[in-house]
Formats: sequence, structure tokens, C-alpha cells
Amino acid sequence: MTAPLYGIYGASGCGRGILPVARELLMVQGIPARRLVFIDDAPQPPTINGHAVMTLDAFSSASATTRHVALAIANSKVRQRLSDILVDRSIEPMSVTAANVVIMDSVQLGEGALLSPFVTLTSNIRIGRYFHANLYSYVEHDCVIGDFVTFAPAVKCNGNVVIEDHVYVGAGAVIKQGQPGKPLVLGEGAVIGMGAVVTKSVEAGQTVVGNPARPVES
Ligand code: UDP
Repeated sequence: MTAPLYGIYGASGCGRGILPVARELLMVQGIPARRLVFIDDAPQPPTINGHAVMTLDAFSSASATTRHVALAIANSKVRQRLSDILVDRSIEPMSVTAANVVIMDSVQLGEGALLSPFVTLTSNIRIGRYFHANLYSYVEHDCVIGDFVTFAPAVKCNGNVVIEDHVYVGAGAVIKQGQPGKPLVLGEGAVIGMGAVVTKSVEAGQTVVGNPARPVES
């Protein structure tokens, strides 16, 4: 009997971190672990951590009633490209939310989000497509986050912050809160270095590091 098939796209660090979370969620729904596989375009061993590894072509042609894929690749431009490919192949985007994630009031979350264990999203928050929030990250009240935004572990995003598309925030970075009607803004494609303390808005495409965070000299 065929059944749905689930794929974690990316068999490297990000994928191997989120796959056990997805496995636990599927097990709760009675879906066996063998219906969850890695998908990767680079040569890989046939199995990783007990799960089959497939190419996208093999995944697309495997026997299945429906196909669901989580994009577990930190590079946001790659996620965007692959999200278009999923649409072309009529593969459903899959979100993964760890069982202990805390989501409070009025949180809108776009498709394909990966929320790792110990993530907290508080209240009145809007988040776009394919958001990654790695271990222990939080998003505080009244934040607006765009598409394909990536948080490494332990990012502290305080209230009234706007984060535009494709921003990458490194591990342990702290983003100071903005004010109602005057948010702190991380512009499109900005990169926030690991451990940075961001006290003011960052321009689109800029990389900032340090405490207080300053642009990297080019
Ligand atoms: N990858 C892929 N297709 C792509 C781009 C990347 O299958 O178009 C895979 C790549 O082969 C690797 C993983 O995604 O196994 C990305 O791993 P990496 O260590 O670069 O970063 P991560 O996103 O896991 O932090």
C-alpha cells in the first residue's frame, strides 16, 4: 500500500539537525520513520542516521500518495530556488515545528518554516515563507519577518523589529528592540555576525559584526 512520502532536503548539518524533529512529529501521527528520507543533490551514502538518501528525481518518482518536503539548507537563495522547484513538481512544502516550541498569540507563519527545539515566538508576529529558527532562538512581540530569513541558534530578536527577506542572523546575536511605529530594521539580505549586538538598523546587503554591531569594512 502506498502512503505519503516525506523528505528533508539537505543531508548536511541543517538537515541532520531537523530530521529527528520531523521524525518525532510523524511518529505521533503514526507515520513510520521509513517514510522520511533525506534528499540531496550531491553524492551521499545510501543512508544517513538510518534514513535513506535520495536524489530529487528518485524522490519524485518513488511510490507515494503525496510528497512533502522541508527545505533544510541554511543558504536562503538555495531555499528560494528549491522552493520554486517544489512548486514545479507539485511537491507540498513541509513545515517542521519541534514539540516544545512555544507560540503565543496572533503569530502568522508562512509555509515551509523550520522551528527547532526551544524556539519561542511570542505575540503579534508575522513571518514569511521558509523561515529557519534554530535551537533556542526567540522572536519577541510585534516583529515582522520576511521570506527566506535564517536564524542560527540562540538568536534573540526583541520586539518591534522588521527583518526583510534573505537576512541571515548568526548564532547568539542579539537584536535590540525598536519602538512602536519606529522599528529597528534589518534590510534585505543583511548578514548579522555571530554574537553581534545590533543596536540600530542595518542597511540592505550590509554585514555587521561586534558589540555594538558595526559594518564590516570592505
Ligand atoms: N544541497 C543540495 N542542493 C542544492 C544545494 C545544496 O542538495 O542545490 C545540499 C548539499 O549537497 C549539502 C546541503 O544541501 O549536503 C547543504 O549543506 P551545508 O553544509 O552547505 O549547509 P547547511 O545548510 O546544512 O548548514
